[in-house]
Amino acid sequence: MSTYVAECLCKACAVELTGEPGWACYCHCSQCRRALSADYATLVGADPDKIKVTRGEFRSYSTGKEERYSCPTCSATVFADLHHLKQRAIYNSMFTTPNHGPDGKIADGPFKPALHIFYTSGITKVTDGLPKYEALPAAFGGNDKQVNEDGTPKE
Ligand SMILES: [Zn+2]
Ligand SMILES: [Zn+2]
Repeated sequence: MSTYVAECLCKACAVELTGEPGWACYCHCSQCRRALSADYATLVGADPDKIKVTRGEFRSYSTGKEERYSCPTCSATVFADLHHLKQRAIYNSMFTTPNHGPDGKIADGPFKPALHIFYTSGITKVTDGLPKYEALPAAFGGNDKQVNEDGTPKE
C-alpha cells in the first residue's frame, strides 16, 4: 500500500497518508483563504484513520467545523480535520515524499482535484472545465448547486 508524506516548511512536523486519497478539491471559502493566505486551498481528503501525525507537535485552530493544523516553528499549515464531514484533509502542496515535482509527479490520479467548492465566495475565477459548486456538492452534504466558471448561476 502506498504511503505519502506531507511536511511543514521547516520539516519539524509531518503527517502520513496511507493508501490513496478518497477525494481532492479546490476550496474557495473565506476561511481557507485567510488561513492559508492564498486565493484558494487545494485539499486531498481521506478517512481520518488514514492520515496520521508522524513527526512533531502541531498546533491547531478550530472554527468548529474545521480544525487546521500548523507547525509552531514555521507556521506552515499542513492538514485539517473537517469535523462536519468526518474527513481529514492534507493541503495538496505540502506533500514532499513523493512530491509534486520532478521526483514525484503525484499531481495526477487521485491527487488531481475534481471540483471547486464555495466557488462564488472566492476572489479568483478559474477556467479549467471542472465542476464549480456555489457551496458543496450533495456528496458533501450541500445543496449541489453548480455555477458557471465566471461565477454566474447556471441556467
Ligand atoms: Zn515547520
Ligand atoms: Zn474552505
